[in-house]
Amino acid sequence: MKIGLEVHVALPTETKLFCSCSTNADEPNTSICPVCLGFPGSKPMLNDAALKSALTVAKALHCKINDNTYFLRKVYFYPDLPKSYQITQLDGAIGHGGYVDISKKRIRIRRVQLEEDPAKIIREDEYSLLDFNRSGIPLNEIVTEPDIETEEELREFVNELRSILYYAGVDINKEMKTDLNISLGEERVEIKNVTGIKNLVDAERFEVKRQGELISRNQKIPKETRAYNSETLSTISSREKESDEEYGFIYEPDLASYPTGDIVIPEVVIASDVARQLSSKYGLNEATVKELVMFDRHALGLVQYGLKRSNANRVINAIELLKRHGNITISDESFGKMLSYLDKGLLLNEDAIKSLQENRQVEIEKNTVSTKEIDKAILGIVAQRQDLVREYKTNSKAFNFIVGMLLKKYKVNPKYISERLAEVLKDKA
Ligand SMILES: [Zn+2]
Repeated sequence: MKIGLEVHVALPTETKLFCSCSTNADEPNTSICPVCLGFPGSKPMLNDAALKSALTVAKALHCKINDNTYFLRKVYFYPDLPKSYQITQLDGAIGHGGYVDISKKRIRIRRVQLEEDPAKIIREDEYSLLDFNRSGIPLNEIVTEPDIETEEELREFVNELRSILYYAGVDINKEMKTDLNISLGEERVEIKNVTGIKNLVDAERFEVKRQGELISRNQKIPKETRAYNSETLSTISSREKESDEEYGFIYEPDLASYPTGDIVIPEVVIASDVARQLSSKYGLNEATVKELVMFDRHALGLVQYGLKRSNANRVINAIELLKRHGNITISDESFGKMLSYLDKGLLLNEDAIKSLQENRQVEIEKNTVSTKEIDKAILGIVAQRQDLVREYKTNSKAFNFIVGMLLKKYKVNPKYISERLAEVLKDKA
């Protein structure tokens, strides 16, 4: 099986790709002008911020950046595109020949290009409406080589790509539209406009089954474009696939060729690479670190800051502790303090953590308790309540009851209390 993707994401710009209309508008058709409505005679002007953002993504995906980037008109007729062509790129794209590493292999990136989003079609029972607010929104299209071979690789690639896009400043909560190219036999079938990872995987599953059945019956798989229906979890044929020639590409005469050499492109952190390096250097669980940092640059900052000051497991535990208290917002300085308390064997209660997050002084006496003290209290209960100790193996309520007694007194991290109690009871039973 071979899977290739064409992923479309909106770039984080204030204004549209070729005009100064805002990219943020709620009421339909309020952020429009002759350019994004496609009026004859209107002239597109390239948005520098979109160019820079697309270059940032291309570089993060290890692409070779084209010295000069230029645009094409992809000519086709559809109601969401009244000027009858979409301004896009092909051979003069932003970048080409990149890659994304997933755990067991490298997925090659064929091309990263800029293009304009068409208008949005809202279909009602008997009519269709058009919203041109979306027309001209800058999209980055990321085209992979057909290197994905399993469902697991598909999931992993999309997750990895989303993490890279997040660190490149793209809003990954916005809709991500993907064309899924999938072939089990000779011919390639394209499933258009699939949104979200779940739909992508469901569409892939259906298509693998469908094509597999055709092959087992010795039938030909026609080259075609299909649409995915998320209600029936199936794909249906929508039209015969156009080749590039049928689309009719011509150079866009209204836009220049743009040199990229002088543009300073920011470095993008590849969070999973950093997680891998830190895990092997400090003996941490890679999955745990990835989970913390893939979509959270603040968490990554805390990990990097903390590792210079404390033991690696302590740093990870401290961030998880903050997470359990609701959020990990904390200044580097306060995080350093937090680590030093934990290094001393102190447990922090909710007030202590809140004080640290608000950069206030922690009242040590009231808001912390040493791990030694907890152990002492556990031993005390064990000595007094043999009835509960006898029961805890067969009755989880007994165990939870003791945890509850301790929490009432100390109001500290329940996970730590449970772990210590389990440890002590293991020896006593
Ligand atoms: Zn406009």
